[in-house]
Amino acid sequence: MTSPAAAGRFAPSPSADLHIGNLRTAVLAWLFARSTGRRFLVRIDDLDDRTFAEIGQRQLDDLAAIGITWDAEPEWQTRHPDRYDAAIAELADRDLLYECYCSRKDIAQAPRAPHAPQGAYPGTCRDLTDAQRVKRRAEIGRPPALRVRTDVTTFTVHDVLHGDYTGVVDDFVVRRGDGVAAYNLAVVVDDAAQGVDQVVRGDDLLSSSPRQAYLATLLGYPQPTYAHVALVLNEDGARLAKRDGAVTLAEIGVERALAQIAGSLGYRATTVEEMLDEFDPAKLPREPWIYRPQ
Ligand code: GLU
Repeated sequence: MTSPAAAGRFAPSPSADLHIGNLRTAVLAWLFARSTGRRFLVRIDDLDDRTFAEIGQRQLDDLAAIGITWDAEPEWQTRHPDRYDAAIAELADRDLLYECYCSRKDIAQAPRAPHAPQGAYPGTCRDLTDAQRVKRRAEIGRPPALRVRTDVTTFTVHDVLHGDYTGVVDDFVVRRGDGVAAYNLAVVVDDAAQGVDQVVRGDDLLSSSPRQAYLATLLGYPQPTYAHVALVLNEDGARLAKRDGAVTLAEIGVERALAQIAGSLGYRATTVEEMLDEFDPAKLPREPWIYRPQ
């Protein structure tokens, strides 16, 4: 049994209209939540500069149009910066944060230990002296980012579809140089604040989940259950994009989009409510769905 506050969610970034692959992930998130008696929430992850309120509104309209229902007003991340500031202040009070003065280029060019994991922050700014920090702060001429001082290099999460997954945890950014909460911090803080204990999303984010789960542990939050679902690809095996043709709900139409999503899951259903009767996580396709616009 799940607690009354338990919730699943779908959290799109409003940088582009949802395409059929995003809609399918949203349907799966909804099916996972509803089939386990959870509440369902939609959150608009609009902290990134390349996001637009009108696209967020269209994403909500499209989700409603295909029959996705939610149990609370959608939250928009830009509307509650205090929530992130409080978590950052708590980590800072515990001396778990440090300023990072590196540019992307600095990080790419930094010397690395021979077995350092791919893509991990090399720790350049981790152990600077106070005097070095004053100097670097003056040199870069822009506000520094904040990184979390981690005491692990990997962390294991449990995923309903992938089993135990162990991935890299480096000293990742929790606050960007422009003062805005970083993606990894924001999702963890929001999920905890909203009672989200089931995270269903595309498997492109599987490798972010160890960092997020580790941060949740640091902040004393419970670990969510994860399900990273296979993405939708175009006929060339690349991520689906606008240029692949008819990919948005406006282009496809509600009825056809639902038929395509149901078909990709091997269901006969024509509505999301009907899909609930056929939904079985153990039988979900593990391979990407190759989408061919018709
Ligand atoms: N907003 C993120 C994205 O659209 C997903 C956040 C999440 O599911 O944790 O890529």
